[in-house]
Amino acid sequence: MAHPQNSENAQSSKSSNKADGARQKNSVLEGGPQPKLFFSFLTLFPEIFQPVLGSSLLGKAKAKGLVDYRLIQIRDFATDKHRTVDDTPFGGGEGMILKVDVLHAAWQEAQRQIPREGKSLTVLLSPQGRLFDQEMAHELSSYAHLTLISGHYEGVDERFIDLCVDREVSIGNYVLTGGELPALVMADTITRLIPGVVGNERSLTEESLEKGLLKYPQYTRPREFLGRSVPDVLLGGDHEAIAAWRQGEMERRTAEKRSDLWDLYSAALKRQKEVQFGK
Ligand code: SAM
Repeated sequence: MAHPQNSENAQSSKSSNKADGARQKNSVLEGGPQPKLFFSFLTLFPEIFQPVLGSSLLGKAKAKGLVDYRLIQIRDFATDKHRTVDDTPFGGGEGMILKVDVLHAAWQEAQRQIPREGKSLTVLLSPQGRLFDQEMAHELSSYAHLTLISGHYEGVDERFIDLCVDREVSIGNYVLTGGELPALVMADTITRLIPGVVGNERSLTEESLEKGLLKYPQYTRPREFLGRSVPDVLLGGDHEAIAAWRQGEMERRTAEKRSDLWDLYSAALKRQKEVQFGK
């Protein structure tokens, strides 16, 4: 689902009309200042979210009004007396499938309360999705509204994905019991990229992965511990020497610990040199 400004893909425009209608009816953020990013979490286990969203930087970001969120219990949209949210798969097979009608109603509710302006995206957490990384986190931090849907059991009815989901996202090549932890991993990573959330913004640009390299080693007091001392260069106050040492360490440890990243970084450097010297 997407606001009209978002031309991410064909699926976005598929559902934008419904969202527009809903927005006119009810926008949570009318009147007062709007947070930079509003999360709608669709889940069967909202209790998993509360402690994480209320703690540390995420809690502070909400207190400062930089982000806000809403937890939507999918089960509230079941229509039978047993509040059924899943059923057996057509054609047979293992496990239970989350029902399209229940998910669709919950998703529609999420689109009823959205920011006035800005892009909106619906993400289904799924081991079949595109791998989440720092680059995707940066991209998603420019959205005004993210609907993050946590699957459970064997999976979700494919028609829900066709109708409402803009992007399937995986947090890694392993299978969790549900999408709640992946949704929180995404929310945490994206939130700290929003201006004003992390006190010292320079620390963001210096972080691992931001420049395609891992971060250099860091030390604090005491200078000596169990016979191990802090490298001399960090104690001398020569800022150029410190910067050169740090750059060297970033390259060394990336090559040593993450050859996949190092290959990408070296290839990018090579391309840059070719362009520079007109090769
Ligand atoms: N049967 C599904 C399959 O083979 O693709 C896996 C279902 S998994 C047990 C239940 C839910 O956990 C998924 O619907 C998804 O929301 C979430 N999940 C599991 N692993 C994930 C991952 N690596 N990244 C994101 N979400 C994941």
